[in-house]
This record gives sequence, structure tokens and C-alpha cells, in this order.
Amino acid sequence: KHKYDYLLVGAGLFNAVFAREASKQGKKCLVIEKRGHIGGNLYCENIEGINVHKYGAHIFHTSNKHVWDYMNELCEFNHYINSPLANYKNKLYNLPFNMNTFNRLWGLNTPEQVKQKIEEQRLKIDNPANFEEQALSLIGTDVYQKLIKGYTEKQWGQDAKSLPAFIIKRIPIRFTYNNNYFNDPYQGIPIGGYNSIFEKCFEGCDIYANTDFFANKEIVKSANKTVFTGMIDQYYDYCYGQLDYRSLNFEHEVMNVDNFQGNAVINYTEREVPFTRILEHKHFEFGTQPKTVVTKEYSQEWRVGLEPYYPINTAENQEKFVKYEILANQQKNIYFGGRLGEYKYYDMDKTVEAALSLFKKMNGSHAYR
Ligand code: FAD
Repeated sequence: KHKYDYLLVGAGLFNAVFAREASKQGKKCLVIEKRGHIGGNLYCENIEGINVHKYGAHIFHTSNKHVWDYMNELCEFNHYINSPLANYKNKLYNLPFNMNTFNRLWGLNTPEQVKQKIEEQRLKIDNPANFEEQALSLIGTDVYQKLIKGYTEKQWGQDAKSLPAFIIKRIPIRFTYNNNYFNDPYQGIPIGGYNSIFEKCFEGCDIYANTDFFANKEIVKSANKTVFTGMIDQYYDYCYGQLDYRSLNFEHEVMNVDNFQGNAVINYTEREVPFTRILEHKHFEFGTQPKTVVTKEYSQEWRVGLEPYYPINTAENQEKFVKYEILANQQKNIYFGGRLGEYKYYDMDKTVEAALSLFKKMNGSHAYR
């Protein structure tokens, strides 16, 4: 008989939700995490009394009422609404593109005038050959040149003309003066940061931090079943080749002012500015601390040793992933989940849904309300 029902590899959101469901059923979990802390990419470090999102800005938003209720059992959300800005040559524009943005760009006041302006500027072609042509055909020159081109080129580390058109199928444009980035009805930041969610979810589990699965493979023998949220290609020793990722580099800095930029997130859309955005963490929680902590975010190519952040959704990567998935489906008692295990960009609410659904699948629907 195994000592644990589940070995959970990775202490991020996926396994946190899984662990909570398992505990509700009286199941015993062993959690191993290669970083020095639980929380995955949602982890916050308290610096100068401010909850610093160490692995990038995390704003919870969902249209799924069930997921929202589930999260509200774990924490209390504040009323933060994501309203990022774009800085282009020191002029600030509201995002997502809306009447405030267009008014700033062109001095136009009405939706009718703006629609006409976009129509005048739009590139009229049938089959856009690349990202640039696609964006120009959707939104026209000014918005593209000032607010999209440089940012996208930094994000992908490539010229917009060499990126495929399919990356932007549509550009969300609003003809209202509404700066709320998300359309979802539920949104907020956990008061006090994300960490307490993980403390609650992993309560009663045995947790080993600073423990990489690949240096401790025999540990699987201590549990009936394993849920693996690390990289699926690494698990299979890259036998079909490496999956590609984009990585990020974060430069955190404490500043001796109480308010540096007046907003939580400001994107820098000029190609010449090396970072893609600056976060000022206190504004996620309406902080009034005497100092502030800001983070410059740089996009970079992933290589072994760096953190893999974003899966790159090309046909070649998908083909490789499907091969790994076939191996995974053939194997008993190991399940792959989360953004690295499923090689899929998941927002937090989708991660919660996916973890609940895996638990349900493994335990029969009676386990679920
Ligand atoms: P993770 O949180 O990455 O957890 C996986 C864990 O497994 C990590 O802690 C890792 O260290 C560990 N691990 C990996 N390999 C091993 C190993 N070999 N051995 C032991 N442990 C291992 N979603 C939103 O809804 N709103 C947002 O605003 C938002 N912003 C984001 C910003 C950025 C920069 C990124 C990258 C993502 C963002 N997301 C956002 C998505 C969100 O981060 C994910 O939904 C969530 O982190 C997925 O949880 P996970 O458990 O799958 O992965």
C-alpha cells in the first residue's frame, strides 16, 4: 500500500485546486515543488509591506460563476479593475483600444468619427500575408504604428513582418469610453495577495519545496497516482524534441517614492524601450505604503535553465505536443495538468476549471457538487 493517494508535482494553482478537492475526500497528498515556495506563478513576495507579484501581474477575472464562488471561498477579492495604459514616446493611451484612446490619438469625440477614421486608414487587402498586414487591415496605421508594432516585436523578439498573420485574428476595439480591460463580469485581486489561497489549499498535505521531480524520480513510488504540472516534454526526456516557450525576465526595484507611475500596469509600446511593461504593485491593492516597488518586464527567448512562461502555439509545437500526449495517455497512474503539463496558455479561471475537471474524471462525478 502506498503512503499517499497522490503525488502532486508542482505547487501552482492547478495542483492547489486538486489538493483541496482531494483533502475534501480525505485523500492524502505529497507535494513537491522545485522552487523555494508554494504558489507557482501567482506567488507574491512581501516587500516594504507591498505584495509583489514576483512572476508577473496576476489579475483574476472570469465569467464562470462557479469558479468565482470557488475562489471566494479561498480568499476575499478587492474591487480592482484592470485598466492598463500604453506609453508611446511619453504620451499615455488607454487600453484596450476605446474612445479614450482614439480621442487621445486623433482628438475625435464620437464613435461615428472614429469608425470613419479607422476605415480611412485600414489597409484594404484580401489575404494579409503577415502580422503587420493583418493588423493594418484591422485597425489602420496610427494605432498599429504607435500602440501595436513595437510592443509585439518585443514580445516575440521578431519583426512584425516575419510573424504569421494568425497571431491576431481580431483586435478588440470599443466605441465606448470604457477602460476595463476584461469583459468578464467577475474580477479582482485577493486582498493580501495570492499566497493565502495556497496555504488553505495545501493544508494537511506534506510539502517539500526546493525539490525537483527529475532529481527525485523514485518519489512516485510513495503515491498511488501522480499529477504532474511540470514540462511534459522534459518528463519524456525530450524524446520528440523540445517544445518552444517565450520566457520573461523581471527586474524588481524598491523606490523611495510613494507613487511612481499612478497605475498598476503601463505597457511601453516603442521598440526602442527594451522592456515591455512596468508594474507598480501597490496599485493592485490601492496601497498607501510610504515606498513603492516596480517591476520592469522583459520578454526573451526561452532556453533550458530559464523559466518557461508562454507556450508558442505553432503547428510544429502542437504536433510535438500531441505525440507527448499520446505517450501520456498510454501510461497508467500519471496525469498531466496545468500550463506546462498541457502545454497550453491557461488563465487562472481556466486552470481552476481544468483541475476540478481532472479531479472529477479521476474520482467519478459523485465527488463533485
Ligand atoms: P504554475 O503556476 O506555473 O505552477 C507549476 C509549478 O510547478 C511551478 O511552481 C513550478 O515551479 C513547478 N514545477 C515545474 N517543474 C517542476 C519539477 N520538475 N519539479 C517540481 N516542481 C516543478 N492568468 C490570469 O487569469 N490573469 C492574469 O492576469 C495572468 N497573468 C499572467 C502573467 C504571466 C506573466 C503569466 C506567465 C501567466 C499569467 N496568467 C494569468 C496565467 C496563470 O499564471 C496560470 O493560469 C497559472 O499559473 C497556471 O497554474 P499551473 O499550476 O498550471 O502553473
